[in-house]
Amino acid sequence: MKILVINSGSSSIKYQLLDMAAESILVTGLVERIGEASGVLTARTFPGTGVEKRFQLETMIPDHSTGMQLLIKQISDQQDGVIRDAAEIEAVGHRVVHGGESFHQPALISEEVIQAISANVPLAPLHNPANLDGIRVARQLFAGVPQVAVFDTAFHQSMPPSAFLYALPYELYEQERIRRYGFHGTSHKFVAGECARVLGRPLAACNLITIHLGNGCSMTAVENGRSVETSLGMTPLEGLIMGTRCGDIDPALHAILHRSRGLDIEEIDALLNRESGLKGVCGMNDMRDIHAARQQGNKLAQLAFDMFVHRLRKYIGAYFVVLGRVDGLVFTAGIGENDHMLREAALSGLENLGIVLDREANAGKPGEWLRISAPQSRVEVLVVRTNEELEIARQTVEVLGQASVATQLEAGRQI
Ligand code: AMP
Repeated sequence: MKILVINSGSSSIKYQLLDMAAESILVTGLVERIGEASGVLTARTFPGTGVEKRFQLETMIPDHSTGMQLLIKQISDQQDGVIRDAAEIEAVGHRVVHGGESFHQPALISEEVIQAISANVPLAPLHNPANLDGIRVARQLFAGVPQVAVFDTAFHQSMPPSAFLYALPYELYEQERIRRYGFHGTSHKFVAGECARVLGRPLAACNLITIHLGNGCSMTAVENGRSVETSLGMTPLEGLIMGTRCGDIDPALHAILHRSRGLDIEEIDALLNRESGLKGVCGMNDMRDIHAARQQGNKLAQLAFDMFVHRLRKYIGAYFVVLGRVDGLVFTAGIGENDHMLREAALSGLENLGIVLDREANAGKPGEWLRISAPQSRVEVLVVRTNEELEIARQTVEVLGQASVATQLEAGRQI
C-alpha cells in the first residue's frame, strides 16, 4: 500500500511517499517558495535499487495546486519517478497542526472534518489555513482517494483537566477554549511506540517521558501509553527553553515590558517567540554553534546551555512525580538525537531517580534508536530518531482499516 504524506505550509509543501508493506520511503521532497518569483522542488528518491537519486526543478510555482501537480509529476515521472501512475497512491495522509478539542484521533477527511479544522483556525492562524490549502488541493487532484488528517495536538487530548487547564477564570475556557493543547504529538506518539517496541512491552503498559528537542522543544509524560502532561501549551511557547522561544516566564512580564519599554502586544509576542530562548541569551539558536562558542570561552553561550539544561532537568523531575513510575526516557529530534553532551548534562547525578547513563553508549552514533542507559539503570534511556511522516502514514492506514470495518458492519446491518 502506497501512502502519500503531505505537510502543507503557507509557502511550501513537504511530502513523502511511503510503501507501507515494508514501511520504506520511496520519495521525500519539498516544494518551496510557492507564490514567489521563482519556486523550487527538491526531492530524493529511493527507487528500490538501494541507490538514492536526487532531483531538483526551479520554476514558477504560483499556488499550492501547481506545487501539488509538480510533486505528483515528480513521483510518477517515467524516467525519474518511483511509481508508474499516480493512481498507485491509495491514500493521502495530511499533517494538521491544530485539532483543538474536536479531534482526539486522526480523521477520515470529509466536508464536516474540513469545517471542524476551519473552526480551529483561530487556535493556529498561521498553520491550519495552510494545512487546509493542502487538503483542498489534494482532494481535487486525488479525487476518490481517501484522505486522512493527522493532528499534532490529538495525542495530548488524553490529558486530564487538572493538567490542561490554566488557573484563569473558568469562563475563559468555556467561552474561548483557552487551555493547554500541547504540540509535537505525532513525534511523541511515534517515539513512545518505538520505545515500547524496544522494551518489548505493549505501549499501553509503559510509563515514559518523551523529550523532543529540536528548534521547538517539548516534553511529554506518557502514562500507560497515553499523554497525561506535556510542556507546550495553548501555543508552542510554553515550557522548555527553545531556539528562539522563551518557554515558561512570569506572565506579568508582558505588563512590565509594556510599561518599561513601551512595547505593544504584537511586539512582545514577537520578542518572546522569535528573539528569546537560546538566541535571546547568547545570540545563537543552533546548539552546535553554542557548543563551539562555549568551548572558546563564550560566557553567554555557556549560560544559555546551562539554562537550557536546568529547565530540562526541572521538567524531568516534575514528570517523574506526575507519573510515579517511569519505565523509559526517550530523547528525540535534532538536539535530542545528536547532542550527547546535552544528554549527559541533562541526566548526570540522577542515580537516585534510577537513571544511570552509559557514557560510552551515549557518545555512540544513533541509528533508528540507541540505548544509552547502563544495565543497572532502573529507567531505560533511549535515543529514538523521530519519524513523523511514518507515524502519519501508519495512522492513515489505521483509519482506513477502521473505515473499512465500519463500512462492512454497516453493510452487514443492511443485510
Ligand atoms: P529539528 O527541529 O528537529 O530539525 O532540530 C533542529 C535543531 O537541532 C538545530 O537548530 C540544532 O540546534 C540541533 N542540532 C542538529 N544537529 C545537532 C548536533 N549534531 N548537535 C547539536 N544540536 C544539533
